[in-house]
Amino acid sequence: MSDIHEVAHADVLAIAAHRDDIEQTCGGTLLRMAARGLRTAILDLTRGEAGTRGTAEERGREAAEAAKLLGVGWRDALDLPDGAIENTFDNRVKIARVLRQLRPRVVILPYWQARHPDHAIVATLGYEACFLAGLKKIETGTEPFRPFKIVYASLYADVRPSFIVDITPFVERRHEALMAYKSQYANQSSGGSLFVPLEEIRERTFAEARHYGLLAGVQYGEPFVQKEVGLIDDLTLLPVQSI
Ligand SMILES: [Zn+2]
Repeated sequence: MSDIHEVAHADVLAIAAHRDDIEQTCGGTLLRMAARGLRTAILDLTRGEAGTRGTAEERGREAAEAAKLLGVGWRDALDLPDGAIENTFDNRVKIARVLRQLRPRVVILPYWQARHPDHAIVATLGYEACFLAGLKKIETGTEPFRPFKIVYASLYADVRPSFIVDITPFVERRHEALMAYKSQYANQSSGGSLFVPLEEIRERTFAEARHYGLLAGVQYGEPFVQKEVGLIDDLTLLPVQSI
């Protein structure tokens, strides 16, 4: 069993379609939250059985290794079909059960427009699961619970982020976590034409992080969209210089 269950509750839960999505889109943010003393968790919805490279078991071991590198106290994977995730009642209940168990204040979901259909569906499926988790009439054997905040990791979306998380001190560690998926990222012959060489992955992911960092005046950053408008107490404490 490769899953990690060190914490009973989480402050921040990141939900994604595939193992290694989190490492790419918000791994630095989870590292930053863990460094602040928050309890972080990851729920992958599929196990990667449809992938060109590696088995689901291999990916499970790699996901556990990546979770350790990210300082995540809880990680598990559901058994939704890879490449064919659907927003069904049963799938919403499966996620709601995890939400009620971990009781996260913040949930990170993928952005709702995406090239991969699984990613787009998870944005809606995850949101509706958060809603359903708060309904008393849905019986899961655990208390109803609804997270306070949902934010969308928008790294791969063509959209202006609502805010950036500064991941500068964590960008190398984030890269190590992504590289833990050796079945996916080690240079190898199987699926060679579909997969990007290692050096290219480093350059791309660092360039993306640099781009989003620059938007907020820091070196490396990860972008997020929130649907709600921001609320401010003190104008003099607003971050990011204007001129
Ligand atoms: Zn994915």
